[in-house]
Amino acid sequence: MIKENRIVIKIGSSLLTDEERLKPRWAFMQRIVEDIALLQSRGHEVILCSSGSVALGMKVVGVTPSTAGLRDKQAAAACGMPLLLNAYKQIGHEHDLSIAQILVTLDDFEDHSRFLNTKNTLNRLLASKIIPIINENDTVTTEEIRVGDNDRLAAKVAQMVQAKHLVILTGVDGLYDKNPSEPGAKLVETVHDANDYISATAGVSTLGSGGMLTKVQAANMAQNAGTTTIIANGEADDPVSSVIDGKRVCTTFVAHDNPSDSWEAWLINRLVVAGTIVVSDEAVQAIKERARGIDRGDVISITGEFVKGDVIHIYDKDGNEVARGMTDFTSPESEILVRNIDVPTKQLLGYHTRGVLVEVDNLVTIDSRHIPWDHDPEAPNQI
Ligand code: GLU
Repeated sequence: MIKENRIVIKIGSSLLTDEERLKPRWAFMQRIVEDIALLQSRGHEVILCSSGSVALGMKVVGVTPSTAGLRDKQAAAACGMPLLLNAYKQIGHEHDLSIAQILVTLDDFEDHSRFLNTKNTLNRLLASKIIPIINENDTVTTEEIRVGDNDRLAAKVAQMVQAKHLVILTGVDGLYDKNPSEPGAKLVETVHDANDYISATAGVSTLGSGGMLTKVQAANMAQNAGTTTIIANGEADDPVSSVIDGKRVCTTFVAHDNPSDSWEAWLINRLVVAGTIVVSDEAVQAIKERARGIDRGDVISITGEFVKGDVIHIYDKDGNEVARGMTDFTSPESEILVRNIDVPTKQLLGYHTRGVLVEVDNLVTIDSRHIPWDHDPEAPNQI
């Protein structure tokens, strides 16, 4: 169930830090914290996903955005995080707001028990009117295991806490139908299907990791989970409440009517692909009708290494992804079961099992609205 008063706000590095001096932009931070206090007084529960640790820490480490490598950025994040939180704490104090820091990694969303722990902690903080400030724990993550940008991180958080709104604040007024620097580019006010705008999303800002593509991906994920997402310019008075109240121009990605339940949304938005299987046409039909799970007789091929409980992607013979599901077997066990279809499972594995690789309840079909995370911005025609 969506929580009507819950808002996740994402703020990018270029709003929070001065690109030249790599220092906090105090006036902006004042405005945003004041607005959060206002929202709280109106009964909203607010979670902040804040970037800025890497940019703020660069000076301490002695690097610049153009020269910093991954290791430098990880060190900068470690230095910048206390600076960022200290700024929020000082300003929050003036407005009687208590803040809390939560650093997360991809595992906290991918692993079912860590997901629940994180969610429960967020709920506990909100119950005491404390503003959780979330960032990725850049220091312990490497490229392969990071979310990578706070746009998608914020969408994952919004989905986790079933927020009514996700507000992504940035340096432009919203999403444009083509690159905003091109003449004639028009702001798109309402988006029902984010897929329609993928090719319009070129361009990345200097500070921070996310360009418009990651914002559209984030909006797509959030709208699929029942969260209305707003992309708006952060340089305004009451930057969040003004867009929630519909008082200024922005782009609104309307939440889809029948959001996947949170477990389904969690399953479908996992970023790590443990393995893939290709199944027969008959199985594809059964999956679409949600008639049954994936039997060992349905499987044509298996790739990747996975263990019981991992999420695998399920494809048809033509290479279209049809579903994702949590598997009951490791990849070697699955191979043995599939290759020896006539041999009883007890003889193959030492115990009796029906040999269903993914049960119907642990399967989520992929609908055409879903944007794959690994979409390549250089290849706009991919979708
Ligand atoms: N986690 C990064 C930071 O704190 C920001 C990632 C992003 O720019 O989206 O600087």
